Amino acid sequence: MLRRTLLAALPLAAQGTAPLRVLPEKPFPGSPILFSVADGPASGTWMERPLTFAQDEKTKRWVALAAVNYELKAGPQILELGGGGKHTVQIAPHAYRTGRLTVAPRFVSPPKAVLKRIAAEREIKKTAFATRSKRAWAGPFAAPAGTARTSPFGTRRTYNGKTQSVHQGLDFGAAIGTPIRASNHGRVLIAQEMYYEGGFVVLDHGDGLFTLYMHLSKFEVAAGDAVEKGAVIAASGSSGRVTGPHLHFGVQWQGLYMEPGTLLEMAL
Ligand SMILES: [Zn+2]
Repeated sequence: MLRRTLLAALPLAAQGTAPLRVLPEKPFPGSPILFSVADGPASGTWMERPLTFAQDEKTKRWVALAAVNYELKAGPQILELGGGGKHTVQIAPHAYRTGRLTVAPRFVSPPKAVLKRIAAEREIKKTAFATRSKRAWAGPFAAPAGTARTSPFGTRRTYNGKTQSVHQGLDFGAAIGTPIRASNHGRVLIAQEMYYEGGFVVLDHGDGLFTLYMHLSKFEVAAGDAVEKGAVIAASGSSGRVTGPHLHFGVQWQGLYMEPGTLLEMAL
């Protein structure tokens, strides 16, 4: 207990070879967060959600990838590790932008005829995102397209002056037909047309971590398929609630969306 107490009093970034390490050095609301511990098997709790650690083949350390809720304010958050260790993690402030978009009116006030469809698709997503499988991702996450990033994560958007929502992903400019690749190893949970998402693929990477690919024009995979990192899973398009052709790339951990750009830069 004494050892744990002393560690908790140290800033995490200064711990060096300490048993617990945290990436990125300054996690912020909406950032991915990687915890690694020297000894395993380990478990823990973060953001009121269970953390599952898996042993990294290269470093032999036990790692768990999670997210910081983007609705949180900067300040201390508690990481609980199995066995009773409590660690304070400082969440740094981060400013997100605001923006206005104009889309087809049917995506702001959906006609009655599609409400059933929207409700059915909500259930499909709910079931998919409740999946908790064994960790399949390994190594760094790769960009799903080699094109320019056009719209960042976290922007508070107003659609047609009405609907407000937070942009829960990162957009890549992509001419229709651009090959879209799996960001990491995993299994296809969803590969179908949906009302808002358009052509939609969801990959399960294990431990409640999912990547989402929206507005696609063509599928190269089907639900249930296992995919390798970098495999072409679809072609980009302009389907669903869009202002033009692009890829929307989302990353979710147990219901929390994270900033994909930071995940793509993390040395995992
Ligand atoms: Zn988007």
